[in-house]
Amino acid sequence: MALGLSRRVKEIAPSPTLAIDAKTKELIAKGEDIVNLSVGEPDFPTPKGASDAAIAAIEAGFTKYTAPAGTVELRQAIAAKLQAENGLTYSADEIIVSSGAKHSLYNAFIAVVDEGDEVILQAPYWVSYPEMIRLAGGVPVIIQTDESTGFKMTPDMLAAAITAKTKAVLLNSPSNPTGAVYHPHELEALAEVIAKHAIYIISDEIYEKMVYGPEHVSIASFSQTLKDRTILVNGFSKAFSMTGWRVGYIAADKQLVKAMTSFQSQTTSNAASISQKAAEAALDHFEPSNIEMFRKRRDYVIRRIQNMPSIHCEVPEGAFYVFPNISELFGKSYQGKVIDSSDTFAAVALEQANISIVPGSGFGAPNNFRISYATSQQNLEKAMDRLENFLRECR
Ligand code: PMP
Ligand code: GLU
Repeated sequence: MALGLSRRVKEIAPSPTLAIDAKTKELIAKGEDIVNLSVGEPDFPTPKGASDAAIAAIEAGFTKYTAPAGTVELRQAIAAKLQAENGLTYSADEIIVSSGAKHSLYNAFIAVVDEGDEVILQAPYWVSYPEMIRLAGGVPVIIQTDESTGFKMTPDMLAAAITAKTKAVLLNSPSNPTGAVYHPHELEALAEVIAKHAIYIISDEIYEKMVYGPEHVSIASFSQTLKDRTILVNGFSKAFSMTGWRVGYIAADKQLVKAMTSFQSQTTSNAASISQKAAEAALDHFEPSNIEMFRKRRDYVIRRIQNMPSIHCEVPEGAFYVFPNISELFGKSYQGKVIDSSDTFAAVALEQANISIVPGSGFGAPNNFRISYATSQQNLEKAMDRLENFLRECR
C-alpha cells in the first residue's frame, strides 16, 4: 500500500472485543470445541414483538429513508420510556436515533470535543471510548481505578482530574467491563464535583436494566442544570438483545441534538428504517425474566471463581460481565508456557483450555480479564470446569 493511511486511522487499534469474538467464531466454525465468553452480547432472542414489527415494516414497504434523527414515532416512544423509567422529560426533538449506541457515542464526541480538549473517563473502560475520543481530536484523561474502590472513582479522584481543558466527563454505570454500578449517593457526590465546572457529562446507560441490587439512576435526573449538560446515551442492543439491528440513541439539549443530527445527516443518515420499527415495538416487550437469569449466572460464575486458585474477583452489581484479577498468576507457567500478562493468559486459555475471554489490557486493566456470562448455563459450567483445571495446572 504505497500511498499510506491518514495519521488518524493509522493510530486506531481494532476493537479487541470484536476481534476476539470474530477469531473465536472462526475457530468454532472450523469445528473446535471452544466456549465463547468473549463478546458482550445477550444470548436470548430479540423479542418476537420486535421481530414481527420489522417483518410488518418490510411487508408494508417501510424500507426508505426516514428523518435523519429517526422517526417521530420512535423518538416519541423513547421520550415516553425516559419519562416513565428514568423520570426525565425530553421532547422528540431532544432525541436522536443512530445506528447503535457506539454510533451515538461517536456523534457525541464529535459534537462537543475540539482538538486538544480533554475528556475524563475511568479505567477499566470499555475498549472503544479512548479510541473514539482520539478520533474526535480529544485527549482521553484516565482515572485509574481498581478493586480497592470497587472499580469506581471517588469524588476526590474526579476533582483532581479536572483541568481548564476538560470538556466532558464520561460515565458508564453499570460498567463494561467491571459490572460496577454507582449507587445513587455515589453518583450524587460525583455530580456535586461536576456541577462546579462548565463541563458536559456523557452518560452511557446501555446496561441500565442489568442491575442486581442497587437501582439504576441517571445523573441527568438530579437537577435541571445537570440534565442540561448531560448527553444521555442508551440503546437496544443489550436490554432487548438487538445487537445486530443497530439502534442506539441520545437524549440531550435541543441544540446539541440539532448539531449531531446535521453531522449524522452528512455522514450516515438514519438508522435502518426496519430496525427503527423493531425498536419502537421492543419498548413494549421488555422481558424481566432475562435479568433474573443473568443474576443466577453471575452468582454461579462468582461462586466457582471463589474456589479457584490464583484468581480473585469483585462481585459485580450490574451488566453481564465479571472481571477477575489474575496478577497472582503472572510468572507461573502452563505446560511450559509462561503467563506474564493478561494477554498471554487469554492466548494460552484459548489455545490450551478452549475458553475465549478478553484480556484486561484493552480495557486499561492489565491485571484482569473479562468474562461475559451472557451465554447458557451449560456453557458456563463447561467453561468454569476448564478454567479451574487450567488454573490448577499453572505452576
Ligand atoms: N456502550 C457500552 C458500554 C458497550 O458495552 C457497548 C457494546 N455493545 C456499546 C456502548 C455499544 O453498543 P451498540 O453499538 O451495540 O448499541
Ligand atoms: N460492547 C460489546 C463488548 O464489549 C460488544 C463488542 C463491541 O462493540 O466492542 O463485548
